[in-house]
Amino acid sequence: MHSIYSDGSGTIEEIIDAGISVGLDYLMFTDHFNLKPIENGYEGWNDNLLSLFGYEHNDMNDENHYMLFDMDKVMPKDYTVEEYVKTAAKKGALGIIAHPDEIRSHLVSYPPYPWTHWELDGFDSIEIWNQMSHWMEGLTKWNKVWRWLHPRSSLITPTDRILEKWDELNLQRRISGIGGVDAHQYIHKLSIGIKVKVFPYKVLFKTIRTHLLFYDPLNPGDHVIDSKNRFINAIRSARCFISNYKLGDARGFRFWAETDAKSYNMGQSVPIPEEGVNLQVILPADAVIRFVYNGKRGGRVTGDSATRIVKEPGVYRVEVYQGGKGWIYSNHIRLEKEDSNES
Ligand SMILES: [Zn+2]
Repeated sequence: MHSIYSDGSGTIEEIIDAGISVGLDYLMFTDHFNLKPIENGYEGWNDNLLSLFGYEHNDMNDENHYMLFDMDKVMPKDYTVEEYVKTAAKKGALGIIAHPDEIRSHLVSYPPYPWTHWELDGFDSIEIWNQMSHWMEGLTKWNKVWRWLHPRSSLITPTDRILEKWDELNLQRRISGIGGVDAHQYIHKLSIGIKVKVFPYKVLFKTIRTHLLFYDPLNPGDHVIDSKNRFINAIRSARCFISNYKLGDARGFRFWAETDAKSYNMGQSVPIPEEGVNLQVILPADAVIRFVYNGKRGGRVTGDSATRIVKEPGVYRVEVYQGGKGWIYSNHIRLEKEDSNES
């Protein structure tokens, strides 16, 4: 999301208050080319909410937006995509490709900002669902007013384009998926002179969320840098899932793999034993569950849990739907032949 440190309209304090008021545990800020909020002491805890700050880099054509966490400083603006992806990787920063597949034509002043350099590696994660991209892509002159008024109901599912790309990349190596709101809270001046806030932070904070899993609980007041490292590690390790809060609170969702010997989280690789691997899903409420294997969706299962025994190597993830809309998207679990020792 963006604050007054770049092209957002909210102060950091206002955004944190909005996050606290809707019960968020954390916020990750990505102002364009700006890490000053850290210098100004904003990184840390407010009540039960942890605010972390990275920044968003883009190339000279305003494409290839890249969200970075744990960079000590902002890289030069004239860096090529290759330079900023490689430099960040070398420094051990977390690199997340932002809104990679934007297609839109309706708003002239908001052109698409796609990712065009898939040949590079060194990135850790992809934003597979971005509230702003999704909203703008579906926009037509007929639904414009309705969509301005109902930003939350406009969300359907992440696009198949990006999901396919993400599945394809994961056949090569682990790339986690996250969701983001890309909140700016635009201020729009009406012809009658009144200013209105478009997509207030508080409204968007009740849409796409990324849920992180930790092995030990994170407690308010925990050391900030240690906590930040744990966040980065969870995202990089793909120990996370994405939800649309409009369709229900997704906390409690789990997707894991079990063998006789051990259980494995999202992001992990499982050596396939003779008897196969038991994939398990539990949900906080009844919904429609689909397993996705190497990018292919399986049949629908309705309920608050599902299990499946699988033996084929490849990448598995889960999609969960409510009323035909995407509610929860897991990260991948990789199955490998037992003699392989990659982890
Ligand atoms: Zn961007």
